[in-house]
Amino acid sequence: AQPIDRLPPWLRSNIGKASEISTVQQIVKQRGIHTICEEGRCPNRAECYAHKTATFLLMGSTCTRSCAFCQVDKGRPLALDPHEPEKVAESVALLGLNYVVLTSVARDDLKDQGAGHFVATIQAIRDRYAQLNREIKIEVLTPDFRGDRQCIAQVVAAQPVCYNHNIETVKRLQRQVRRSAKYDRSLQVLQTVKELAPQMLTKSGLMVGHGETVAEITETMADLFAVGCTAITIGQYMRPSLEHLPVQKYWTPAEFDQLGAIATEIGFTHVRSGPLVRSSYHAGDWEE
Ligand code: SF4
Ligand code: SF4
Repeated sequence: AQPIDRLPPWLRSNIGKASEISTVQQIVKQRGIHTICEEGRCPNRAECYAHKTATFLLMGSTCTRSCAFCQVDKGRPLALDPHEPEKVAESVALLGLNYVVLTSVARDDLKDQGAGHFVATIQAIRDRYAQLNREIKIEVLTPDFRGDRQCIAQVVAAQPVCYNHNIETVKRLQRQVRRSAKYDRSLQVLQTVKELAPQMLTKSGLMVGHGETVAEITETMADLFAVGCTAITIGQYMRPSLEHLPVQKYWTPAEFDQLGAIATEIGFTHVRSGPLVRSSYHAGDWEE
């Protein structure tokens, strides 16, 4: 199929109130830390910030991998900032967030692949909120840690309310879209979390628009469900620049509804499917 460059009308969303956006930008920029919301110019910023949710990108904005859909810079990452957990905790508190998602680039260069940094950040946020006598829920969205059980166990032991790891695309398109990641390894990450903590909610996400079929998406969802994953997000892939993979198809809102219905039928209890859905979209609303 020919790639399409023109955005369909349902994707030409407004980007929300500039003032709210710039508060976050200011707070994170001043501290030299990063959010996916800003870095990825997420179309849901106004909505998420109003719901007091944001997603922080830990360990720098340079990734050791080079997925063909992702707009994070690729290359040799900087040394870890030992003060980052504190800076993130301070920013989360300043923004008054009540639900925060912590994610990171893949740090294949680090001995523990960054697992310890996730834990330190969770702890720093909890400590700060305890001082303020306030509650916060923390979700993690981790890289695959190359399937390393110890890294996963370290993060699980810090007890996030939700462990998210994105499979991103269907089996056939993994190599083309994610390069150094693997379908089975991502399933294994989610399975390991469930083995270690059967009660922990696990979540995964798919970006559609790379040429996958409904049958392939259904198969992927069934594979995720089979490893105990009960929360799923399905959103439209949007090409960050001409250097990234072209979009093969814009799925319509009605088609997203159909995909969501299939997910529910498979048994997922937490389903978000829509053109602008991102893996952290309305994350906090799922928490009772
Ligand atoms: Fe940030 Fe995720 Fe919300 Fe986008 S969907 S604004 S990345 S929290
Ligand atoms: Fe982007 Fe994650 Fe791939 Fe790195 S591993 S290029 S951050 S999607």
